[in-house]
Amino acid sequence: MIHLPAAILFDLDDTIIRAYAKPVEAWGRLLSRYRETLEGGVPGADVEAVRDAILASANAFWKDQAAAARWRLDIVGARRLVVQGGFARLGHRDDDLATRIADAFTEMRQAEYALCPDAHDTLATLRRAGVRLALVTNGRGEVQRAKIERFDLARYFDHVQIEGEFGRGKPEPDVYRHALGKLGCAAPDAWMVGDNLEWEVVTPQRLGLRGIWYDPDGDGLPAGSGARPDRIIARLADLLIDDNPSTRAE
Ligand SMILES: [Mg+2]
Repeated sequence: MIHLPAAILFDLDDTIIRAYAKPVEAWGRLLSRYRETLEGGVPGADVEAVRDAILASANAFWKDQAAAARWRLDIVGARRLVVQGGFARLGHRDDDLATRIADAFTEMRQAEYALCPDAHDTLATLRRAGVRLALVTNGRGEVQRAKIERFDLARYFDHVQIEGEFGRGKPEPDVYRHALGKLGCAAPDAWMVGDNLEWEVVTPQRLGLRGIWYDPDGDGLPAGSGARPDRIIARLADLLIDDNPSTRAE
């Protein structure tokens, strides 16, 4: 007998669809298209140096949680500033080139969105089993709705909650409470599933849900992470495999 909860809240990006994973690889690949421009125009900068500067700029940019909550609703604008910030770290300024590179990255990412292979089957099976399902995603309404439409996901969910429409995003407690209320489900009877340890494990656990971490590449918990997921899954279909709910990783 599979142990399933009354309700499951799912993250969207990098959980149900592959969206932003592996930024080091993605930036390296994008910037290699600009190799000649960069090496000719940004003094002393090879592709790897520009990539590392952009990644450092992104880390600094997204660290400020209040600012991040605003910029999540304008990813295109945020990305332009991140690339400008990367150039600045190399002592360089070229806002036109920064914008072109940032927008090319946005376009490349959108073209590469892909559904996790077992997403439809898993969601359909959960639904048939009577589990109430919510999609709880951060980001702008139109952007997230376009992904939901593109991958035909709306039909599986009793409730879809997008930061840009709801007015608040993960990890604000009201986000989870509102979704649970919409599903008519108490926190102890619900799981939250996603790839972000803070948003989909730590905060949901604090509110009484089980936090299930999706780790498709088998990276394991980051060194020094205090997060203790109730369960770590490498495939969405693992949710359908029985697991002893009383064992929490210590
Ligand atoms: Mg995610």
